[in-house]
Amino acid sequence: MTDPAALLSEVQSRIVQATKVAGRQGEEIALIAVSKTHPAERIAPLIAAGQRLFGENRVQEAAEKWPALREANPDIQLHLVGQLQSNKAEEAVALFDCIHSLDRPSLVTALTKAMDKADRRVPCFIQVNIGAEEQKGGCAIVDLPGLLAEARAGELPVIGLMCVPPLGIEPAPFFALLDKLAADHGLPGRSMGMSDDFATAIMLGATHVRVGSALFGARG
Ligand SMILES: *Cc1c(COP(=O)(O)O)cnc(C)c1O
Repeated sequence: MTDPAALLSEVQSRIVQATKVAGRQGEEIALIAVSKTHPAERIAPLIAAGQRLFGENRVQEAAEKWPALREANPDIQLHLVGQLQSNKAEEAVALFDCIHSLDRPSLVTALTKAMDKADRRVPCFIQVNIGAEEQKGGCAIVDLPGLLAEARAGELPVIGLMCVPPLGIEPAPFFALLDKLAADHGLPGRSMGMSDDFATAIMLGATHVRVGSALFGARG
């Protein structure tokens, strides 16, 4: 099955199924179609099928692809799901409707400055290095309270937590931990779950799932 509209409705029905199983019927789960590496020609059919929420992981790539696509579809929402360098904060604030990768104090400073300058508040998720992996993005769990306090002091709108669990092992305990951390800090959003595990993530409280290959096919 490679028809993008068919893949979209398949993913949507699996989301509905998971919300039912979890007793979360009626709750809105945001499906972020992660279009990184895929050209505009691959994205257009999903837009035509009604998808309006997309994710990219690099500022540069998003800046090249999305202005034209959005001009034709002004109701599209674009989320940044990849790591952000502080020197790209201004560009990110101009381009994205939500940032999922706030993970360090220097980025709080850069984003606060960029949002003040643009007079635009972009909601953020704090990315947590949930598996305490060495080369992975995200703040350490012990640093989360401090980072959240800094973001709140800078009037950065933090709406939830985001994680990418370690590869190759059962993700459920990590999703459960992120859900608990979000609850402990009074944050409503949980950005967790990708193509292979979004149903599990929804059963454990995900509010935003980030799905790439299940919608677009494998990346080249
Ligand atoms: C690429 C990516 C995704 C989507 O991954 P798939 O396995 O293709 O669904 C989700 N989140 C982040 C942060 C990504 O970089």
